[in-house]
Amino acid sequence: MTVFLAKLIWFLGVAGWFTIRYPHQRRSRRTPKTKQSDRVRELVLLAVSLSGMFIVPLIYVLSDEPRFATYEFRPLSAWLGAATFVLSLWLFRRTHKDLGRNWSVTLEIREAHTLVMNGIYSRIRHPMYSAFWLWALAQALLLPNWVAGPAGLVGFGTLFFCRVWREERMMTETFGEPYRAYMARTYRIIPGIF
Ligand code: SAH
Repeated sequence: MTVFLAKLIWFLGVAGWFTIRYPHQRRSRRTPKTKQSDRVRELVLLAVSLSGMFIVPLIYVLSDEPRFATYEFRPLSAWLGAATFVLSLWLFRRTHKDLGRNWSVTLEIREAHTLVMNGIYSRIRHPMYSAFWLWALAQALLLPNWVAGPAGLVGFGTLFFCRVWREERMMTETFGEPYRAYMARTYRIIPGIF
């Protein structure tokens, strides 16, 4: 394992994520919605997450900047990062399959929205966010830079903590008791822990 290979793995991981998401993104535009959360707030959070998970690391991968934050490369850490990215992509794909047309990039309710509680959603209620946490962790393990590595954890963490409670409130308002019962029997992102 070399720094070049670690950077390449990061890039392939992001490309893999994009490939999984693209068809859902296209279909999502054509699926009518009935409820939308504060658009501006949602778009700001998406921009923060995109900066930390893509723009900052991309600058580092292409230019090694910011150089002052570079630290010694550890191959074992990069191998762990590669394995974490694979796990993240696997989970990401499963969540898209299970969530189907109910998925949206911002907080929204579709006209024919159904409450998904099966498949991976029977174990945790925010598995797609678990997949993003894994991606952010993979980035920190792959890129030996104190800014570009943890940028994903900070960027996605901001989106997650500013969104997840509002998402659950929206789901409770829409689905009522079944969602409350679902919340009571599932964890958010790590089975048995949180
Ligand atoms: N938080 C989920 C979904 C992320 S996509 C996860 O991490 O897997 C965001 C959209 O998914 C929200 O707009 C919400 O309408 C929808 N959503 C979240 N949980 C859902 C569920 N259990 N069933 C159906 N739709 C859900």
